Amino acid sequence: MQFYSTNNASHISDLKSAVLNGLAPDKGLYMPEEIPVLPESFWKELPNMDLGEIGFHVLSPYFCPTISEADFKVLTKEAFNFPIPLKQVSEQIYALELFHGPTLAFKDIGARFLARVMAQFTKGLDKTINVLVATSGDTGSAVANGFLGVDGVDVYVLYPKGLVSEVQEKQFVTLGQNVTAIEVDGTFDDCQRMVKAAFMDQQLNEELVLTSANSINLARFLPQMVYYYYAYAQAIKLGKKDITVSVPSGNFGNLTAGLIAHKMGLPVKQFVAATNINDIVPKYLETGIYKPSASIATSANAMDVGDPSNFVRIQELYDNELQGIKSDINGYVCQNEEISQTIDLVYSQFKYILDPHGAIGYRSLNDLLDNDDFGIFLATAHPAKFPETVEKIIKTKVEQPERLKKFMLGKKDVKTSSRDYEDFKTLLKKQCEIRLA
Ligand SMILES: *Cc1c(COP(=O)(O)O)cnc(C)c1O
Repeated sequence: MQFYSTNNASHISDLKSAVLNGLAPDKGLYMPEEIPVLPESFWKELPNMDLGEIGFHVLSPYFCPTISEADFKVLTKEAFNFPIPLKQVSEQIYALELFHGPTLAFKDIGARFLARVMAQFTKGLDKTINVLVATSGDTGSAVANGFLGVDGVDVYVLYPKGLVSEVQEKQFVTLGQNVTAIEVDGTFDDCQRMVKAAFMDQQLNEELVLTSANSINLARFLPQMVYYYYAYAQAIKLGKKDITVSVPSGNFGNLTAGLIAHKMGLPVKQFVAATNINDIVPKYLETGIYKPSASIATSANAMDVGDPSNFVRIQELYDNELQGIKSDINGYVCQNEEISQTIDLVYSQFKYILDPHGAIGYRSLNDLLDNDDFGIFLATAHPAKFPETVEKIIKTKVEQPERLKKFMLGKKDVKTSSRDYEDFKTLLKKQCEIRLA
């Protein structure tokens, strides 16, 4: 399959350049040229499929035969290797727990898949692909762990010294193998500026293959379709129909994946675009006007986005028709105090511990569902990732999963750089040489 740019439909790329570039040269986002409809046989087999098998069937139209079917079977099995349980919270509302991966958040799914797709593209090359990522906390850990131990790809994580939490830092500075953490004496913006400078540095790019693992990469959001089908299969087994799915959203990659799954045939009655007070998209659904603004900090901080990058993909899917978008998507805005109220209420009523992001998903369903409807919200992060917020509300300790405990015991191993690009460049070149030797 080919992929076009949202800025210019005649700008076409093959899979490999779309994945390795992330963004189209005209700064548009890549979209698949066509969205295939899944065959009857898929729906028949779906109840018996595991996540890897669903991944193979749903994603192979986009990734094969660029990647051979045999390789893609192995790839999907390895990428989708942790459980995604659907758990009952209240009578009508279930949580799809996406947080049982290496870093306890749903971004693990896209990162693990992207890493393995990139590894396919290094086969037969005598060069290593170097992924550069600047992080303010969570993206670095999902990307680093997604790529950990993957042949042919090395990862460099730049982060601002002293400005990420200890739990976040431990998840990418203790890994070793093909992951190098670089502690920068500066801010997140300095880290991002240096990564951008490296991508623009012609001389450096002649020596090294550099790429980003940016969240707009199509190989990061497409794999997220997999769990929508899986959730549907579980719901059918429970005898449910008329499913509403609520997606706690920031950059709207997760919702975009759900909408593409729907176009491929997934029966969903309604999607909910649930946000915190960064309510750009719900406002758009109400007024038809898209008005980006500066982001506002909330306790659901992974959703603090004032200009969602994947919104153009949603518009593209519906040919910019507001009516069509509104017939599939309901907007919902959760106020700050409602996040903590919901965590409190759901714990005292049902003994289920929500994280601030999942709380927004739950609340939207609780407010919007009709009597006989069935609702699933995407639980995007484990509550143990936000102990300060959650424990204060429920007045109980949130147990740390083993994985998190293990990170905390790991030994910090980092390189250091100043905020001067030349300094970083020298370090990067030296590290790449050491890795090659
Ligand atoms: C990234 C993230 C989101 C938002 O997902 P988008 O795909 O950007 O809309 C929601 N919750 C958590 C925990 C996240 O890390």
